[in-house]
Amino acid sequence: MVGVVGLEIHAQINSLSKLFSGSQVKFLAPPNSLVSCFDASLPGTLPVLNKRCVEAAVMTGLALNCSINRKSLFDRKHYFYADMPAGYQITQQRLPIAVDGTLTYSYLGGTKRNQMVTKSVRIKQIQLEQDSGKSLHDEPRNQTLIDLNRAGVGLMELVMEPEMSCGEEAAAAVRELQLILQTLGTCWGNMAEGQLRVDANVSVHVPGEPLGIRTEVKNINSARFLARAIDYEIQRQMELLEQGGIVQNETRAYDQKSGTTLPMRDKEDFQDYRFMPEPNLPPLRVYDSASVPAGLDPSQVVLVDQLQAGLPELPSVRRDRLVQTYSILPEHSFTLVNEDGLLDYFESVVKSTKAEPKKVIGWVMKELVGSLNQQNLQVSQSPVSSHALAELLALLEAGSISSSAAKR
Ligand code: ADP
Ligand code: MG
Repeated sequence: MVGVVGLEIHAQINSLSKLFSGSQVKFLAPPNSLVSCFDASLPGTLPVLNKRCVEAAVMTGLALNCSINRKSLFDRKHYFYADMPAGYQITQQRLPIAVDGTLTYSYLGGTKRNQMVTKSVRIKQIQLEQDSGKSLHDEPRNQTLIDLNRAGVGLMELVMEPEMSCGEEAAAAVRELQLILQTLGTCWGNMAEGQLRVDANVSVHVPGEPLGIRTEVKNINSARFLARAIDYEIQRQMELLEQGGIVQNETRAYDQKSGTTLPMRDKEDFQDYRFMPEPNLPPLRVYDSASVPAGLDPSQVVLVDQLQAGLPELPSVRRDRLVQTYSILPEHSFTLVNEDGLLDYFESVVKSTKAEPKKVIGWVMKELVGSLNQQNLQVSQSPVSSHALAELLALLEAGSISSSAAKR
């Protein structure tokens, strides 16, 4: 038997204001200080679509090789939560903004974990939707407090096909997605702060046979925990089936302390979302520069071709360029791109010394990254400036000092 994993990812859009209202989007603010009448669902209020959120979803779709639907639709999805005062969420159920993409990711695999493995997973769709507010449970006083600051913040929900097979793959895919979103600036991607929320659908089956019944694991707030949660769940389901049991289609929560998953009690019943078209929003249309209908102001519409042309260099392209330019190992290009500030550091050392890039990367990877990790420091906090390292390497190159002396 093998594991099958499909991810559903909610990415909070990095925008100044919410998806359908002018309230500010901010992570830490006094409770209920960023709430407009619309966010609180007061009668008579209407949604006004935020152009920036649409652009973010289109850019993200383009970066993930999706087709962008020139027309998409908004729907109401009903469920009752105290932190969702309208009683429904506006989402894109029938026709999402982006479909049919791919995410390519890599990790060090093989028996010795020293082989670069590269895989792809298909992205079924990306839809725009509203975030909910937050419920804070005050257990001692037995009450629930509601904070609507997050209510109505724009989300991109990315749905992947069930094509991954273990925690390691899922974690690598999420890390790559995180990097892409950060490069685009469409989402900050911090999992611990809930900007990127990953739900893992997990099942097991015998290859060649139909997919098994899946569980959905929630409450995962880091890529490392995602990998653990998935691998635990695959193991649990395999053991269950081997003992003659059956897997329940249920929602489970990952428990960090025990490293296990537990059934979540609040989602036991079948939910009828009563989807219906959102009557207060017309179809969402995006255009290409050449096909903006007469009478529409081009500065007021979202232009797909312009967003495509303005996309920044994506992490995979950047890594390929580094491997080409400096003849470094692919795995080193990953570290350079992943660690905040490391690429700049490396390139400024290379520029200001005659040492071969291959030698510089050796130092950067072994000495610098190693000692920074040990001391839990960021590249920007490095006690050795890129300038100082360049001078050191120049001395080494000239044979003025020995490598062991330099390390000290
Ligand atoms: P639903 O409409 O019930 O939400 P979807 O087809 O939209 O189902 O799938 C939701 C998520 O579950 C997707 O990320 C998909 O990859 C994943 N998924 C679907 N079936 C399985 C399965 N048998 N095993 C693992 N993941 C699955
Ligand atoms: Mg779904």
